[in-house]
Amino acid sequence: PYQGPSKEEVYALRKQYLSPALFHHFKDPIMITEGKMQYLYDDKGRRYLDAFAGIVTVSVGHCHPGVVDAVKRQSELLQHTTTIYLNPQIALYAKELTDRLPGNLKVAYFVNSGSEANDMAMMMARLYSGNYDILALRNCYHGMSEGTMGVTAHSTWKFNVPQGFGIRHTLNPNPYTGAFGNDGKRYAEDVKDVISTSTPGGVAGFIAETIQGVGGSVPLADGYLPAVYDMVREAGGVCIADEVQTGFGRTGTNYWGFQNQGVVPDIVTMAKGIGNGLPLAAVVTTPEIAQTLAQRLHFNTYGGNPVCCAGGRAVLQAVDEDGIQANAAKVGDLLLERMRGLQEKHSIIGDVRGQGLMLGVEMVKDRASKEPAAAETGQVMQRLRELGVLIGKGGLHGNVFRIKPPMCITTDDAEFLTEAFDLALSEL
Ligand code: PMP
Repeated sequence: PYQGPSKEEVYALRKQYLSPALFHHFKDPIMITEGKMQYLYDDKGRRYLDAFAGIVTVSVGHCHPGVVDAVKRQSELLQHTTTIYLNPQIALYAKELTDRLPGNLKVAYFVNSGSEANDMAMMMARLYSGNYDILALRNCYHGMSEGTMGVTAHSTWKFNVPQGFGIRHTLNPNPYTGAFGNDGKRYAEDVKDVISTSTPGGVAGFIAETIQGVGGSVPLADGYLPAVYDMVREAGGVCIADEVQTGFGRTGTNYWGFQNQGVVPDIVTMAKGIGNGLPLAAVVTTPEIAQTLAQRLHFNTYGGNPVCCAGGRAVLQAVDEDGIQANAAKVGDLLLERMRGLQEKHSIIGDVRGQGLMLGVEMVKDRASKEPAAAETGQVMQRLRELGVLIGKGGLHGNVFRIKPPMCITTDDAEFLTEAFDLALSEL
């Protein structure tokens, strides 16, 4: 059992010594002291089903034995030197990671966070194209660095400071609330319009999540990416897929989210699930685009360190050996069906969407107006915690449940989550 400082002491320390920018779920915050695969344990030893995976980061399971072992072994051997010397871990990892990508996406650059990866991707796009403007979607989230805050299109995350110049936000192809329903081609017309009216005619690139995460598990309307990728390439730009949340089998049907729309990007950014909780992120691109960075020196002290690379390799292995992608498809389909069942029963559920273990349940006061039911979302979330389920929340109005558990979740867990959800909704 947990024997460290009490939750009250930890809360007091956090309030006094940590940045007030940190926010926590629940008025009476929960203190998590252990994790095992799809479960979390609080300081009192109470078990929770983790339906949010450290914000979609724990891909193959909390403290997955293979990952723990790889990190432990490498930590004992060598923790750090940087890339100024050769080391086998980063070289083998780059090969193993890029082996899992289609086309000519064969060169990796390792960094430590999703924000860094997206900054790097945008810089490469600009250097390669010779253009400056980057197109992104409204309601997207790509990070909190100065550059990526400019891309992120959510007032929640935008400070009143100069940020990410040259970003043009286009219509979000949201099948539920968007004007054109699920017709991706019609939303894509806006990209053409923005290119011709708001840029010099040429663009550096286009960046999008393949299912929006923070924005509330919003899939892109059918046919959107193929149409947009053509337009962007025609305007001299490169196409960037942010796979920070959607990669590594999470969408079930495919290893990468972009494959669900039948496209191959020019640059792919990864973070979160790539390291199962380790600070690890990557930019993968073609040799031609990667070459742009060779004109100067570029360096990242922790990027590609042996410990995180060893962990990243163990994640790839676990995804394969544990049948993670197939499980995401199976349990994801079941959850989707169960949530649709709850939608029939509870009118407060306006939309159920997503793919694999990247699901969203949008709560509305009224199905016709789709007015967000934010307070009720908070209430249900609190009740779920009491029932032993930790779920995620998102969307600009905070009215979308995000179900994105560690991908080792079982069908029994899914049934438990469904029952708890049903009960919490019934009590509203
Ligand atoms: N892209 C996406 C899609 C994300 O969800 C996030 C984090 N929520 C980021 C980028 C930024 O990652 P990080 O917090 O590691 O900088």
